[in-house]
Amino acid sequence: MNRLDHRDPLVFDTHELGRRAGSMRTVERTFKAPEGLGIADVIGVPTGSEITLELRLESVVEGVLVSGTAEAHVTGECGRCLEPVEDDLDVDFQELYYYPETDERGRTRKSSEDEQSDEDEEETYRLEGDFFDLEPVLRDAVVLALPLQPVCQEDCLGLCSECGVRLSDDPDHHHDAADPRWAALQGLSAAPGDEGDENKDSDTREGLAENQEK
Ligand SMILES: [Zn+2]
Ligand SMILES: [Zn+2]
Repeated sequence: MNRLDHRDPLVFDTHELGRRAGSMRTVERTFKAPEGLGIADVIGVPTGSEITLELRLESVVEGVLVSGTAEAHVTGECGRCLEPVEDDLDVDFQELYYYPETDERGRTRKSSEDEQSDEDEEETYRLEGDFFDLEPVLRDAVVLALPLQPVCQEDCLGLCSECGVRLSDDPDHHHDAADPRWAALQGLSAAPGDEGDENKDSDTREGLAENQEK
């Protein structure tokens, strides 16, 4: 019973290790990134872009220890100013793939233990025959290596809350009369001769004018 697709670039064959603890081989592989490798709508490896893997497969008593690095190009969006962000990612990972018939302590599994629920199997990767699937391990490693809030530059000032201008392009950017009450005051003091119809209005104006003089 083998559910892994051997043509999948993230499926590897450990047959050559021969299950002799201590034997080791290295594998290099370049392949096109699968969909959704990264943090959705934030930053990730573009689908179809090149990823280069270098793996070290070591046979140990319980299974095959897989260590490696992946090099990929990532693209995303600055979390402050929404400018495109690009980076090269160099990710290290290591995972032990247990032999199908052994448990986590290297003992031969009894047939009843093969019926373990999926919950018990969580975080445990197993070989399927001689093969293992690197995809879940690579996905976890890439997501962990990515910034949760990528920025175009460390000191990115983000966007102006008034008009949306990118502040790093224009650090002196500001708005006069940002406060509409202040704008109204300026308008009043600029037109002192404008008479109001109601006493209440003119009282207010006198009060404001006094404030201005102080
Ligand atoms: Zn930015
Ligand atoms: Zn602005």
